[in-house]
Amino acid sequence: MNTPYKVFTPEQLRDRVKLFISLMINQSTANNITIKIDNGRMTNTYGYCYSDNDNTYLKFSSMLLDGRYTLESVDSVLKHEIGHLLDILDRGYSNHDKHFHAIANKYKFHGTSGVELNKSEIYDTIVKIEKKQPKYRVVCNSCGQIAGDYYNKTAAIKSIERNENVYSCKRCSSRDLEIVYL
Ligand SMILES: [Zn+2]
Ligand SMILES: [Zn+2]
Repeated sequence: MNTPYKVFTPEQLRDRVKLFISLMINQSTANNITIKIDNGRMTNTYGYCYSDNDNTYLKFSSMLLDGRYTLESVDSVLKHEIGHLLDILDRGYSNHDKHFHAIANKYKFHGTSGVELNKSEIYDTIVKIEKKQPKYRVVCNSCGQIAGDYYNKTAAIKSIERNENVYSCKRCSSRDLEIVYL
């Protein structure tokens, strides 16, 4: 299956969430909801929807931004959490019961959660989603240091492939770098 892996800026992810809210709920909710993007600490949860007395929030992990997941997987996470939001606006609470599953079927997203959080005010987290494997590893031929693993053929990878000797090892400063194809 040819599903592109997708990199987002936080703004782009927020805009996509707002787009889905406008389609699944309405434009006014899309304009007024607070959408938070975690800055790296949210590592075992892709997203959740929670309420305090006055407001309901959506929060998403920055893991969704860096291109390790397909657009399809990211969209499923976004819609799952918006499904909880819709559920909360509709009946005042949400969980993964048959009411939620009806929403999941209608909007085509995962209806179950991989991890349950037990805090009552938090409705969720999400699903195991397909993880992308890196394809390229940059290795220093002088000291053996692994400079990094990459998902995509970046300008740096292409330059090292062409032996342009532009980039250097952070540990030993050698420009004798090599690409290992993973
Ligand atoms: Zn859920
Ligand atoms: Zn080195």
